Amino acid sequence: MVCQELVERVTEFFEATLPSTDRERFEAHIAECPFCEEILEQFRAVIALTGHLRVDDAAAVAPQHRAELLEVFRAWSAAGR
Ligand SMILES: [Zn+2]
Repeated sequence: MVCQELVERVTEFFEATLPSTDRERFEAHIAECPFCEEILEQFRAVIALTGHLRVDDAAAVAPQHRAELLEVFRAWSAAGR
């Protein structure tokens, strides 16, 4: 799994709608990617604020933040990771 896929599927992860095979890939990536571990913490903070996380909610709570995350990922992967 690459970082961008993780970001795109993070809502599925928190809603437990991620298929088990994908969930294993997701957790394997988190285990070896401190960057995405940080992202996961950010989303946990959103859930703590709203009590839940849906795609629409996440976009409503922090649309700018999500855009920034994707920007960071782009810069990061462009740097060779
Ligand atoms: Zn990652």
